[in-house]
Amino acid sequence: MNQEDLKQMDLDFVLHTYARNYIHFVRGEGARLYDDKGKDYIDFGSGIAVCSVGHGNKRLAEAIYHQAKNLIHTSNLYLIEPQARLAKRLVELSGYDMRVFFANSGAEANEGALKIARKFGEENGEQKRYQIITLDSSFHGRTISTLKATAQSKMHQYFGPFPDGFVYAKDLSDVPNKISNVTCAVLLELVQGEGGITPFDKKEVQNLERILKEKNVLLMVDEVQTGIYRSGKLFASQAYGITPDVITTAKGLAGGVPIGAVMTNLKDIFVPSDHGSTFGGNFLSTSAALEVLEILSNEKQTGELDKRIAYFTQKLQDLQKHYAEFFTQEVGLGLMRGLRVRDSETLTKFLNLAFEERVLVLKSGKNTARFLPSLTITQEEIDEGFRRIESCIARL
Ligand SMILES: *Cc1c(COP(=O)(O)O)cnc(C)c1O
Repeated sequence: MNQEDLKQMDLDFVLHTYARNYIHFVRGEGARLYDDKGKDYIDFGSGIAVCSVGHGNKRLAEAIYHQAKNLIHTSNLYLIEPQARLAKRLVELSGYDMRVFFANSGAEANEGALKIARKFGEENGEQKRYQIITLDSSFHGRTISTLKATAQSKMHQYFGPFPDGFVYAKDLSDVPNKISNVTCAVLLELVQGEGGITPFDKKEVQNLERILKEKNVLLMVDEVQTGIYRSGKLFASQAYGITPDVITTAKGLAGGVPIGAVMTNLKDIFVPSDHGSTFGGNFLSTSAALEVLEILSNEKQTGELDKRIAYFTQKLQDLQKHYAEFFTQEVGLGLMRGLRVRDSETLTKFLNLAFEERVLVLKSGKNTARFLPSLTITQEEIDEGFRRIESCIARL
């Protein structure tokens, strides 16, 4: 179908929830996407950190095909081997002594975390504890309760009334001020993905962990974006040297097959019927995730991932230094990186020009250009992407 007809069909029949760019990609290979005219784009966004092993990954495609022709789904009423294996692998590779529940998205994984927090608060303490502290500029999802957990009031318009029990802290240092005798948990991202790529300070995070342990308040880390080697470790929590009570993850876990996971050291918090999901953890998504973890843990072990992170970061830092009149700072962790752009008009212009030069870069917060390349991106693809970025800066 040609692009114009497809655009019209999309406008006529799909609800308008996205500020879409009406390009029509038809094929992908590694960090390259090809449109319907055969033009190639260097993808520095990976479908928002989802395509962790790149596009058209043969191993992932084989794993999905092999599983799909046997069984896609049986339901959680029966044993699911790849689900059990995936849970074991997440625990082994992270080193966290936890159990795992599988859902289908980041928001759903966070819903699971919120339920864990509420049940924990119900059962531990002199009185029922129900308040969950989240941070300004956070993002935790689009369901009614994860939207309320997202401390950005502009996103709350229209959709109330919301569930009670969410309290917002200005930043990490403000969290202890918000703790009361009804607080059961703190939910936070270690590097805020949508709120401008800002890694929190390691010492401050560790300090907060200590305070929360003392007060028997759960530390819940939303690793929907930072998780699955995006930070350079399986979880950013490991890079921060902390042991959260709950970790949620999703985006990169199955390389594009929908999946979410919530892990907790409260191994017996749920009993049958407390929580569940029809699709969550089925054969298809967990087989895909197992292959993704196999590929990425190997990249980590051989040192390839660390080399790639160093190379990409160096490129971005050089760019920032060279064009300091546009880019005020280079920020990030692992392959989750950002360039602070001097003002939002320049950012919009930069992103549009990057698209024209056929390199896909994302936005984060008000003034950050966000880079989330696939974790298997090659040096050639990185170099080509940066050449195109140079051409677009020449036109800024
Ligand atoms: C993307 C994201 C979510 C929401 O995930 P969905 O799969 O879109 O529901 C939640 N938290 C963080 C940190 C995210 O980046």
